[in-house]
Amino acid sequence: MKPLQSAAAAVDAPGNKAAIAPISQSWFDSSVCRNCSAQLTTPYCGSCGQKAARRLSFGDLFKESWERIRWFEKDSVKTILRLIFQPGLVARDYVHGKRASYMHPLKLLVALVAILVLILAANQYFQRFDFVGQSRDVDRMAQRVVTYANWSFTLGIVAIFLGSWIGFGRRLNYNAIEHAVLAIYCQNLILAIVIVNLLPTLLWHSPGFILLHKQASGYYLYVIKLTIVTLAYSQFFRLRLSQDWPRLLLACLIYAVASWGLLRLYATMLLWIIDA
Ligand SMILES: [Zn+2]
Repeated sequence: MKPLQSAAAAVDAPGNKAAIAPISQSWFDSSVCRNCSAQLTTPYCGSCGQKAARRLSFGDLFKESWERIRWFEKDSVKTILRLIFQPGLVARDYVHGKRASYMHPLKLLVALVAILVLILAANQYFQRFDFVGQSRDVDRMAQRVVTYANWSFTLGIVAIFLGSWIGFGRRLNYNAIEHAVLAIYCQNLILAIVIVNLLPTLLWHSPGFILLHKQASGYYLYVIKLTIVTLAYSQFFRLRLSQDWPRLLLACLIYAVASWGLLRLYATMLLWIIDA
């Protein structure tokens, strides 16, 4: 009788990880984290962060996953809205430790690139060229460019980073990773704008409209990108335009040249890959 009793006691002991006893309400009522077995004093575990577990009921599973999607949505929209006018301030907040209020920069980047890829696939944006059908070789090459084009969305990050790293150096003592956070948040805002700009092409996707859209966006998107980067640099580095404008101009120039150069380099490498 004795070994059985001690086995039962071990099962009921708080913090026992492997529950052998049948599932019961008292298992959830004890103040023990059911994820990591630490003592619970608050609704969320101080050790692993999990919310105190309740017994699952019908619908909980769906409710929880729905809440996660909603949370993801709310978080990303909130971050993007704040980014619109304050890209540099969001990055500065994040670097200084205000993080739960914003979506992680890389998570947001992955989400935005995924949306972008879906839209571009839906409207066949990259498949529309004015030289299509003139030569079979060119058509085949264009097809391959499409395959690799999705990678180009992240090139802007490198250009923004180079602008801030070379242009501002150790100003405000930011390290390379902190410069990178600025660059990624900035590129996130640019991608969000590119996505909004593409929305009309989901409704009107005739080849003629897409070609026109491509040509026009080439001009105004360039201006918008430059504006965003200028704004972000001024906010992140707390610039005073009256005295800091030469540095800001230099950084923006580096950004513009770098993004132009990287895109050419990327295109050249692409051709090289395709030729090989
Ligand atoms: Zn825990």
